[in-house]
Amino acid sequence: MIQLSALQHFMFCERQCALIHIEQLWSENLFTAEGRIMHDKVDTANKESRRNVRIEYGVPMRSLRLGLIGKADVVEFHKIDDGKWVPFPVEYKRGKPKMDDCDKVQLCAQAICLEEMLNIEIREGALFYGQTRRREDVVFDKTLRMETEDTAKKVHELIESGITPRAEYSKKCKLCSLLNICLPKANSKASSYLAKAMEE
Ligand code: SF4
Repeated sequence: MIQLSALQHFMFCERQCALIHIEQLWSENLFTAEGRIMHDKVDTANKESRRNVRIEYGVPMRSLRLGLIGKADVVEFHKIDDGKWVPFPVEYKRGKPKMDDCDKVQLCAQAICLEEMLNIEIREGALFYGQTRRREDVVFDKTLRMETEDTAKKVHELIESGITPRAEYSKKCKLCSLLNICLPKANSKASSYLAKAMEE
């Protein structure tokens, strides 16, 4: 079983995913600290119940099919017309909506876990962004589900290989909390030097 968060790490950077989930390294920066504080606040909230919505915080979940385990920040249960309660996962993020699908994939993975555990279908969830203070609905369509399953498969392959990919410096490295552990600039130079020395 791999952590649900590994999917997001993988989509951000495969080397970051390997450093955290193979080499068990971790370091915090301002962004991860803000995110952690936000998650901690959500996790310690109490249950809530309104007429047609019940809210559970810090909900543990897993999918045996995809080999995923983790916890959802919030799962709302919405009462629908026939009296059934349908889960609606909500994930809290510190920043703003991203260009790629990494947050959506993590949320969709939570929905797949809940579907497997409760033997139901979940069509939608939401992402709440701390910076914009806005909640965005996410539809779990076929494309997003395929992207989520494909990412889970690739993360398993990476972790089972036990091989951490080489560092390649890019713009996103400035946002990465593992920058000082990864040393992407130094590592790229060292790798090139070693490759050249091997050739010679
Ligand atoms: S510093 Fe850059 S290359 Fe290294 S793990 Fe972070 S994002 Fe990946």
